[in-house]
Amino acid sequence: MEKGASLGAAIAFGMKRGWRLLADAVLPPRCLRCGKRVGEPDALCASCWREMRFFAPPWCARCGLPFPYPMGEGAICGECNERSPAFDRARAVLRYDAMSRPLILAFKHADETHLANALGGWMRRAGEEVLDGADLLLPVPLHWSRLFRRRYNQAALLAHAIRSCGGPPVAADWLLRERRTPSQGQLGRGAREANVRAAFRLRPGKSVKGRRVVLIDDVMTTGATVEECALVLRKGGAEFIGALTLARAVRAGT
Ligand SMILES: [Zn+2]
Ligand SMILES: [Zn+2]
Repeated sequence: MEKGASLGAAIAFGMKRGWRLLADAVLPPRCLRCGKRVGEPDALCASCWREMRFFAPPWCARCGLPFPYPMGEGAICGECNERSPAFDRARAVLRYDAMSRPLILAFKHADETHLANALGGWMRRAGEEVLDGADLLLPVPLHWSRLFRRRYNQAALLAHAIRSCGGPPVAADWLLRERRTPSQGQLGRGAREANVRAAFRLRPGKSVKGRRVVLIDDVMTTGATVEECALVLRKGGAEFIGALTLARAVRAGT
């Protein structure tokens, strides 16, 4: 039985690989950002790769904000020091800037859902400090009316992609967005906080008590959304709350 199952899996894998090779022969892989031909599917060309600004240490032990120079083990940034976030640790892959924005907006608004594999893979690799030992991934939810219009929740796609490269299981519908909040695009920090206040809750019957959970979202701007979700999980008794986002906006000069 087991032999049959593994043979079946091998055949399925072989067929998948065969289709991939066939697809690559007909449609050679292209850079995810600029469309130039590349050797590997789901990849960026060398020049786009160089233009992306990936976060790297030294950074705030708590929120992952980069430091201009090493500050010592466990150092936290001024903002985290002033107001302790509801999450335990947050990390992001890329700076949200003129280089990464087109890629992220295409994924978010232009149905370029095939990007999820590559982007989720980057998150899996860069997110070790929050993913290690985690029990569940919780994508930040959209309100149902926005989900209806957009047809997919980009945070959930990223969470599933992280799972498929060896990340923890996805609790896709555990967090609910109760209120339809106006788009955050043009709002400043205070307005964003007011906008998402009490917008989320846990689905009845779901419990995060004693669990190590990681919030997944595409972009962290002021952190107001992640903070609101983390407060809900904190209230629900989560043991550890991580946040992993694909991109994060940081002020110039940091
Ligand atoms: Zn390119
Ligand atoms: Zn910080």
